[in-house]
Amino acid sequence: MIDDLISMIAPHHCCGCGKTGGLLCDDCKYNIIHEPISSCIVCNRPTNSNCLCNTCEAPFNQAWVVGERNGILQRLIGLYKFERTRSAYKDLGGLLIDILPELPSNCIVIPIPTVSSHIRERGYDHMLLIAKYIANARNLKCRQLIYRQTNTKQRQKGARQRMEQAKRAFGLKSDTDTNAPYLLIDDVYTTGATIKCASQILRKAGVKQVFVAIIARQTLD
Ligand SMILES: [Zn+2]
Ligand SMILES: [Zn+2]
Repeated sequence: MIDDLISMIAPHHCCGCGKTGGLLCDDCKYNIIHEPISSCIVCNRPTNSNCLCNTCEAPFNQAWVVGERNGILQRLIGLYKFERTRSAYKDLGGLLIDILPELPSNCIVIPIPTVSSHIRERGYDHMLLIAKYIANARNLKCRQLIYRQTNTKQRQKGARQRMEQAKRAFGLKSDTDTNAPYLLIDDVYTTGATIKCASQILRKAGVKQVFVAIIARQTLD
C-alpha cells in the first residue's frame, strides 16, 4: 500500500533498461527467468530440473536458483539490501515465484533469519518480506521457525569460517511440525554454509523434505 503510493509519487526506473515504471520491467524480468540456473549448486555439474544433482549429498532434497549474482539481478539485490529500496521484495519474490515448481500444499515457507543489526539498518527484515510474499502467492504458510542464536556476519569471510559460524548461528523453534515439507528462502548462495546448516537443523529435528530457493548464486573469490 505504502509502496504503491510512493511509486505513484516518485516512479521507479527499471534497473535493467531504465524504463519508467517498476524496478524491473517485464522484458528484463523475462531475460532473467527464461533460463534459470540448471547446474548443481554443490558441484556445478549440469542438472535437469533443479539445482541439486543426483550424486551430491546435501541436507536438502531439491534446490532452485534464479540466476548468477551479476547484471540486473545484482543491481536489484543491491538496491534491496544496501539502499533501502523496500519495494524490491516484490520483484525479487516475483522472480522466485516464477521459477519455483508447484509445491506440496502443506509446505511451510521459512526465511533464513537476518542478522538483527542488518534489520535495524534497513528498517525491514528483507528475507521475511520475500518469504511472506512467496507464501501468499502460492497459498502456503510462512513461519519464522529458524532463529538466530548468534549475530555474526558472513560477509567477507572464507569458506571454513562461514561453515563454523553457520553451525552455531541457528536454532529451531520447538513447535516445528516435523511431518511437513519446508521451503527455505535465502538471497545469496556463496559457499552454501548458511543454507546447509539451516537445512541440517530441520533434518536433525526429523523433517524429511527440505526444499531450498535462492535468488542468486555467487562464486567466492
Ligand atoms: Zn527493463
Ligand atoms: Zn552436484
